Amino acid sequence: MDQSTADTESKISKKETEIHNTKDQVEQLKKEIEVVQKRIDKRDKLLKDRINSMYQSGGAVQYLEVVLGSKNFGDFLDRVVALNLIADQDRQLLEEQKKDKELLEDKKKTVEDKLAALEDKMKELKDLKKQLDAQKKEKTRLMASLKKKHSKIEDDVEKYENAAELLNSQEQAIKEEKARAKQASEQQSTSGSAGKNASNTGSGMIMKPAAGVFTSGIGSRWNKFHAGVDIAQAGKVPIYAAADGTVIRSDYSSSYGNVIFVTHNINGQTWTTVYAHMRERVVQGGSVKRGQLIGYMGNTGHSFGQHLHFELHKGPWNASKSNAVDPRPYM
Ligand SMILES: [Zn+2]
Repeated sequence: MDQSTADTESKISKKETEIHNTKDQVEQLKKEIEVVQKRIDKRDKLLKDRINSMYQSGGAVQYLEVVLGSKNFGDFLDRVVALNLIADQDRQLLEEQKKDKELLEDKKKTVEDKLAALEDKMKELKDLKKQLDAQKKEKTRLMASLKKKHSKIEDDVEKYENAAELLNSQEQAIKEEKARAKQASEQQSTSGSAGKNASNTGSGMIMKPAAGVFTSGIGSRWNKFHAGVDIAQAGKVPIYAAADGTVIRSDYSSSYGNVIFVTHNINGQTWTTVYAHMRERVVQGGSVKRGQLIGYMGNTGHSFGQHLHFELHKGPWNASKSNAVDPRPYM
């Protein structure tokens, strides 16, 4: 919708430029015509003077014949030339005059063509503006109906279209994540430091992934299940991985917008976090550290206003989101 409106707007601006250019060309041609016309008029006067003096100097009989047989002044001049009544100097004058008259006709014809083209372009412009108007009306209508539907909520992420692909890569990611977590815990025990994810039930298991206020909680909303929480804040807001983990999928979806799915193995338990509607994803795959920048808060997908839609699943992600839990007690 936005795309087609933008297309039409760009066509309109192109058409307006064309019209402007054509008008400029017509103006330029009119100026040129004026110059040529002045030249012709001046030469006409000169030629008439020459003929006049020729008559007075005795070529009377031929002159009369020529005048009587001529349809117009141009024809008259042609006859004068044909009858060899004039000197070379005048002949050249006549040639120039003839060329200028042709040039004048050419330019007049070009102006006519340009004016006709201009008329076509004006009509096309009118049609395009009509089209844009219709597109804008349709958009307003759609937005109004969306607004009505979403007057209280900030997103609609009921369905993730690429669920099959996600489930495909999830299995492998969970394996990689288990290996990563095992290695990390071995390093921790050899170094003797306390595990930073000491408990998987208390607060602090995950970190709040972005600054901002919770604008919506988990639960049923408009007869749909909202599987996560919404966190909103204006400006360029960084989004961080909520815990150490392995990226399952970094993707764009029409409902979730820019979204990243991460699997975590915390004390042997698999968890999944989801970060949706991001303006930008900076992580495409591999493992992430707790607090690592993975993207920026945005308004992509079925989202109404900039916010982060954040989901926590106890276990793997599934299409019915049956493992979704309220993440707030775990933060
Ligand atoms: Zn949400």
